[in-house]
Amino acid sequence: MAETRKCQYCGITVPIGHQRPKTWLEKHEKNCARNPNNKEE
Ligand SMILES: [Zn+2]
Repeated sequence: MAETRKCQYCGITVPIGHQRPKTWLEKHEKNCARNPNNKEE
């Protein structure tokens, strides 16, 4: 089953053919500029 993985904050999708899409996405979401946990002061 095809599964589309994308950032829940900004909607960016994992690069096609990436070997570790889950890891990539988790890392991205932690650093996503739209992640409310990433408050810059
Ligand atoms: Zn994002």
